[in-house]
Amino acid sequence: MESHLYEVAIIGAGFSGIGLAIKLKNEGICDFVILEKANEVGGTWRENTYPGAACDVKSHLYSFSFEPNSNWSRVFSQQKEILDYLIACTNRSDLRSQIRFGWVVQKMVFDEHRQCWCVHGANGAIIEARHLVLATGPLHIPNWPGIKGLQQFGGEKFHSSQWNHDYSLNGKRIAVIGTGASAIQFVPEIQPLAKQLFLFQRTAPWVIPKPDGMISGWKKKLYEQIPLVRRVYRNSIYWMNEIQVLGFTSQRFWLRLAEKLVINHLRRHIKDEALLSKVTPKYAMGCKRILLSNNYYPALQQPNVEVVTNAIKEITAHSIVTEDGTDIPVDVIICGTGFHVTDSFQFADISGRGGRSLTDVWQNGAEAYLGTMVHGFPNLFFMIGPNTGLGHNSMVYMIESQIALILDCIRKLRMKQSSTIEVRMEIQEAFNRDLDKKAVGTVWNSGCVSWYLNEHGRSAAIWPDFTFRYKKLTKNANESDYIWTA
Ligand code: NAP
Repeated sequence: MESHLYEVAIIGAGFSGIGLAIKLKNEGICDFVILEKANEVGGTWRENTYPGAACDVKSHLYSFSFEPNSNWSRVFSQQKEILDYLIACTNRSDLRSQIRFGWVVQKMVFDEHRQCWCVHGANGAIIEARHLVLATGPLHIPNWPGIKGLQQFGGEKFHSSQWNHDYSLNGKRIAVIGTGASAIQFVPEIQPLAKQLFLFQRTAPWVIPKPDGMISGWKKKLYEQIPLVRRVYRNSIYWMNEIQVLGFTSQRFWLRLAEKLVINHLRRHIKDEALLSKVTPKYAMGCKRILLSNNYYPALQQPNVEVVTNAIKEITAHSIVTEDGTDIPVDVIICGTGFHVTDSFQFADISGRGGRSLTDVWQNGAEAYLGTMVHGFPNLFFMIGPNTGLGHNSMVYMIESQIALILDCIRKLRMKQSSTIEVRMEIQEAFNRDLDKKAVGTVWNSGCVSWYLNEHGRSAAIWPDFTFRYKKLTKNANESDYIWTA
């Protein structure tokens, strides 16, 4: 065990962890350590290297407000450019010496006597810190489909977030399971390589055109030389996205209008009636994440692609068998089946006050205060915790709001000379019941099955309101909401 007691330990060096570390340093809080399981920073943007991986939020907004970049090459950046941006942010703030790479966290235990967190690593090491921040993100535990026989499949198989770049897809019979945000990006990229591509679709997604393109040199120069222009552009993206909340919540007719436009667009571009019927969504737009692509539908219309809508019954050594008995021989199965989202924190072994495990506390579903703190777990902060996800705007905005809250908590702890902060149970409870009320009548609760809902059907992932309201709530830690221990 290290003898040093850090002020803050951050787990994960993705957008959340790096952003928090930069702001801690700016605040003069330099006694922190970042524990990162991989050998580089970047989180989801390091792990997801599948062909075509890109962001569906415009780059000038999908970046830190305090680390602006005038040189984004595209309106919607691709994975490599976002990863490079995070690496550059890390290097500029000289964070590398504070990151322990290859450090896999096994369990986290709150030591009540010493009022600190003990973080146990898979390497047997223990790191202690007064504050612990879980910046692990919700998109890092692959959701493998529980399909009978998948394990026994004799060909190649991988998950979209663990892409096997050593395996050549050239001339192969490829099965893709899932038609979510990742699959609609990689299917158009691998379709030209495939001998045949079978796309197993359970639910047709809403896919709208992506207003993408290169950003011209003169615009980059303008952003660089007149930062106000860049800020105005960033704000305009934010407000154009933010206004959509009305359609998701109180004024659903806007989404119904958008649905009509998208269906017309589909009808104009897909001439094959059978395919059109397969890919026409059957649920309210926005209930699952709305996807952006210009090349997904063109790819589906290529002669080597078949969209299979019959449910998968089982997988044999060399084929996929559907419920109607059709046996489809394939060489490789690629699972674009998403991640464990609402239950992602349950994969971590966390014990709070009284040795109570987080898994026990969350057995009826994950709930937190402002998606950041949980009663019974003093000095523990979740980033992108329950009910902080978005279907319409930039997650970096939510991350920055959480950073402000965490910093203010630490600031006030120092000021009050308290050793722990813990949200009051009744405050956490009232906050979540209010979220439940807000979720009623929203599109996310309109009947589709999505990872926005937990296994009890509660909307546990989405922030069901304007994001500027979240920012306002997280600007300062309201002292009476917490128990402060001397
Ligand atoms: P996803 O959007 O959750 O999609 C998973 C897909 O797999 C869905 O089509 C789902 O069908 C299907 N599926 C899941 N289990 C299945 C099973 N047992 N049998 C058959 N089909 C199954 O996952 P993702 O595409 O990996 O994306 C995850 C999240 O990552 C996104 O929602 C987004 O937040 C993020 N992402 C973001 C970007 C970006 O540009 N910012 C890009 C990629 C990913 P059902 O719809 O029927 O459940």
